[in-house]
Amino acid sequence: IAKETKNAIQFHDKAMTEKALQRRQMIIDLQKAISSEQLTVVYQPKYTLSDQVASGVEVLVRWNHGQHGFISPDIFIPLAEENGLSSAISKLVVKKSSQELGQSGLLGNKIKHVAVNVSATEFNNADKMYKLTQFILTQSTLATCMRIEITETATLNDMKKSLSIISNLQASGLTFSVDDFGTGYTSLAMLKDLTVDEIKIDRSFVSEIEHDPRSRTIVNAIIAMAKSFNINVVAEGVETAEQLQALKAMGCQEAQGYYLGRPMPIKDLVLHLQN
Ligand code: C2E
Ligand code: CA
Ligand code: CA
Ligand code: CA
Repeated sequence: IAKETKNAIQFHDKAMTEKALQRRQMIIDLQKAISSEQLTVVYQPKYTLSDQVASGVEVLVRWNHGQHGFISPDIFIPLAEENGLSSAISKLVVKKSSQELGQSGLLGNKIKHVAVNVSATEFNNADKMYKLTQFILTQSTLATCMRIEITETATLNDMKKSLSIISNLQASGLTFSVDDFGTGYTSLAMLKDLTVDEIKIDRSFVSEIEHDPRSRTIVNAIIAMAKSFNINVVAEGVETAEQLQALKAMGCQEAQGYYLGRPMPIKDLVLHLQN
């Protein structure tokens, strides 16, 4: 091999090794953050469009890494999934939100639903999923209002099996929402085989709603479909008054987004919901 090419290959190898090492370190740090319960949670309200009253909150996990500051869940959740850490995160998220919301006095009073995100991959492991929900049901503050948002970051390996787990959980009182609707491989299949309680229209469609007729058509179709299935429909990522108005005119039931309320710590949520 020419010297130049050889150098390039060596350089490439070195960069790859460094990246792998960084990843390895990040997994170790994440493991520590989980076991020492350093992950925290924030809450983003969702609102009914008819009267703009908060109908529920979504719990979102946060990781403040000592060295690197806040790391986005879009980065560490997939990492957690690949390394068998996602159910430990789910458990921590349920535990923390249960404690905080339980003390806040908001449950049942100002908030009807508390939604946590669970990746579809977790449903591929029936045993873990069963344990997680048993745990949810022991957190008495949440047992009656818990909703699970299924985030499809990978395909469900065994759709039939996962769907039967979900139906079992529905029988024990949990409600289900299909997250990022319209972007996953199995969104429609889930609607076909399962009675979910809610779908959330992905932000990518909502953000284009005013200017892109194709996005508008898709949003209209999702709303119509939700109506005929008689399930709740939520628009995600609403950032402007115009988007909110357009969604209202289209008959969308609920909305969530920075325009209405950002994800916030429990203290701020209590203040936010007082008005
Ligand atoms: P998601 O479930 O679709 O959550 C919505 C994301 O969009 C959140 O980002 C939220 O902060 C952000 N967002 C809300 N309103 C707006 C808006 O108006 N404009 C824009 N640009 N963004 C908005 P976040 O918290 O960074 O979470 C990213 C993703 O990570 C989530 O997407 C979810 O898939 C995953 N995630 C977050 N927390 C958890 C968790 O506890 N467990 C699991 N398994 N996944 C989680
Ligand atoms: Ca979500
Ligand atoms: Ca979403
Ligand atoms: Ca998402």
